[in-house]
Amino acid sequence: MIEAAEMEKILAAYDQKKISIGTLGSHSSLNIFKGSKEEGFRTVCICKEKDVIMYKKFPLVDELIIVKDFTELLNPQLQEKLRKLNTILIPHGSFTAYLSTEEIQNNLMVPMFGNRKLLDWEANRKSQEEWLRQAGLRLPMTFKTPEDIDRLVIAKLQGAKGGKGYFLANSPKAFYKKFKEMVKRGLLQEDDVGKVHLQEYALGVNVYPSYFSSIIKDDVELLAMDRRYESAVDSIGKIPATQQIDIDVNPTYTVVGNFPIVLRESILPEIMRMGDNVHKKARELAPPGIIGPFCLETVITDDLKIFTFEISARIVAGTNVGIGTSPYAYLRYGENMYMGRRIAVEIKDAIKQKRLHEIAI
Ligand code: AMP
Ligand code: AMP
Repeated sequence: MIEAAEMEKILAAYDQKKISIGTLGSHSSLNIFKGSKEEGFRTVCICKEKDVIMYKKFPLVDELIIVKDFTELLNPQLQEKLRKLNTILIPHGSFTAYLSTEEIQNNLMVPMFGNRKLLDWEANRKSQEEWLRQAGLRLPMTFKTPEDIDRLVIAKLQGAKGGKGYFLANSPKAFYKKFKEMVKRGLLQEDDVGKVHLQEYALGVNVYPSYFSSIIKDDVELLAMDRRYESAVDSIGKIPATQQIDIDVNPTYTVVGNFPIVLRESILPEIMRMGDNVHKKARELAPPGIIGPFCLETVITDDLKIFTFEISARIVAGTNVGIGTSPYAYLRYGENMYMGRRIAVEIKDAIKQKRLHEIAI
């Protein structure tokens, strides 16, 4: 694991008056770049040729670095270039989707706005559950093997797959039948069978609150809330039930977009306490805890119980619904605050207070 002291050395060599904010060109990059520009930073985008159009149409990037594959971020020459540009990397969903935890922890010698040590707690479903349970959150039950399935479960693959390849089953028999179908459709592979995580299906609505954990202000802010638009599950209701049975539809959860949500106000205090507690626990597990954005993925049932089924300890793409402004960011900061900009504000505050080494590690 890259030690904080090594990053501190790199940061000490940076010209802190000319910091660039950089990220991979996907996921929430426009959100991050817009916020960085509004706070006066230079921006660096590591981007695939096919996506350059996005940064032409939305001119938010000062330095485009074209790569064939995002794993080129591990290339020492590319990292040298990023360091020369005094870059602080902002991790988002594509970092964990395209790079492994070990690669991010051991081979990314560029200061990153986030806690690399927490990745171990987050990447592994078991330790993630332990973290969230110890923080006092309510989690859906999990099942060790398909043979234990005695109620409706959702079967998931490890990692940020955006719901691709998930399926439902209510018995061991149904599990194996559905699994085979998923393999046939190319959504799963034979050897995934041992890797599938089985979680009780919580019936309710999905709510994804996004928080910002400020190390500089020592506070956790609720900044945004969204829900996902998932294919095919969100379109199944358009088909009458009789025809659903005829064509044997199997809901999948591939995320296509997001909607903003405002929550019933009486639920907000618990949502806020959950955010505080998750960060507090993270600080015990891996100091200084969560650095910057994080999101809890929840289901709220009809008796208003909040089940958390996952955490992302980085910016989630759902915060893109708040680019410009969102109700919760507005309540805290007034107009024109959103996750990408909040990140840039934190980096700016850290530079001013000579505390960059505390948040870019
Ligand atoms: P992409 O940049 O679209 O390839 O996404 C990188 C990773 O983030 C993938 O694992 C996606 O499934 C996930 N992702 C992208 N957009 C969203 C979104 N709007 N909501 C949830 N996950 C997403
Ligand atoms: P994930 O990739 O873990 O964020 O999950 C993708 C989607 O699967 C979510 O947006 C939900 O619609 C659904 N989902 C995941 N876990 C559960 C659960 N335990 N109960 C109900 N729905 C879930």
